[in-house]
Amino acid sequence: MQIVDQFLRKVNYLRVSVTDRCDLRCVYCMKEKMNFLPKNEILSLEEIERLCDNFIELGVEKIRLTGGEPLVRKNILHLIENLNKKKSSSNLKEITLTTNGSLLKKFAKDLKNNGINRINVSLDTNIKEKYKEITRFGNLDNVIDGIEEAKKNNIKIKINTVVFKNFNEDHLSDLINWANKKLIDITFIEVMPMSDTDMPRHMQFVSLDNTFKKLKTIYSLENSSYKTGGPSNYFTSSNLNIKIGFITPLSNNFCATCNRVRLSSTGRLYMCLGQNEFVDFREILRTDRGDEYIKEKIRFALSIKPKKHDFIINNEVKPYINRHMNETGG
Ligand code: SAM
Ligand code: SF4
Repeated sequence: MQIVDQFLRKVNYLRVSVTDRCDLRCVYCMKEKMNFLPKNEILSLEEIERLCDNFIELGVEKIRLTGGEPLVRKNILHLIENLNKKKSSSNLKEITLTTNGSLLKKFAKDLKNNGINRINVSLDTNIKEKYKEITRFGNLDNVIDGIEEAKKNNIKIKINTVVFKNFNEDHLSDLINWANKKLIDITFIEVMPMSDTDMPRHMQFVSLDNTFKKLKTIYSLENSSYKTGGPSNYFTSSNLNIKIGFITPLSNNFCATCNRVRLSSTGRLYMCLGQNEFVDFREILRTDRGDEYIKEKIRFALSIKPKKHDFIINNEVKPYINRHMNETGG
């Protein structure tokens, strides 16, 4: 079974935001004061699993749990355990996680035991004070301990770094050299104009075109054919033992190969991170319309998956996306 959208893109990847809550407040992701949703608006783990089952039956092979911070969701291991069991008897091939890493030390072993072999850890700097600044109160040591514990348990880590104007753009070599010592691939990401945070987006955004040129000169980066099924373009260097990736939603659109849809923590299926249209599954789940109906709705959602996002960041345009990244997951 394979699901394709109206542009014949095969969609085999579901990202699930399991909570809108987080133990950090990264300045490009959230406002300092956030109102999180009441519990009854968030899908239960059983509701998430049922939706996943339907997606898997329709051809989804990879599920990424995200948030908010997925590891703050109560009983998240229970969901992962149940999803992992489906791998042997269904289309599902991989379950992964995107996390800020603050609780990874506590969870690494159980994650590995429940089939998690790869994790993306979001880390924008390897300097303690700067980490605290960008996350508003995070502790870098917790993340580093989490990464070490994950590695000890044979979980492959990739670091995702948002390049933020006047914050880390001049320190990326430090981070690369640090990751290189730990043999961890690293991907740089452009700030996206999700709903407003406390600083206008044009004061946050750096085009990765220039960043790439600088890093290419420093490391003599060379094109790599390596792919992880996502939008990152990877590069290697004879001076490095790791791969360096670039995700450039603004400076270099990659929508033609989009293979994913995103389920929000409230049960809204967003067919594109950069558009506002969604199909709401929460009411469908709570009025129990049956799995055939759910599948019909998924097919409908795919039939209206937009061709591309229209992200734009400049000082004259207000972001048109009406939700923060923690609602849909990055
Ligand atoms: N809390 C987890 C974490 O930080 O990895 C998972 C959720 S977080 C929303 C997922 C990813 O989105 C993180 O890598 C984060 O840096 C990124 N992100 C958040 N807001 C963003 C924005 N406005 N533009 C680009 N990336 C963003
Ligand atoms: Fe939390 Fe992740 Fe958003 Fe940072 S990027 S505030 S860690 S959800």
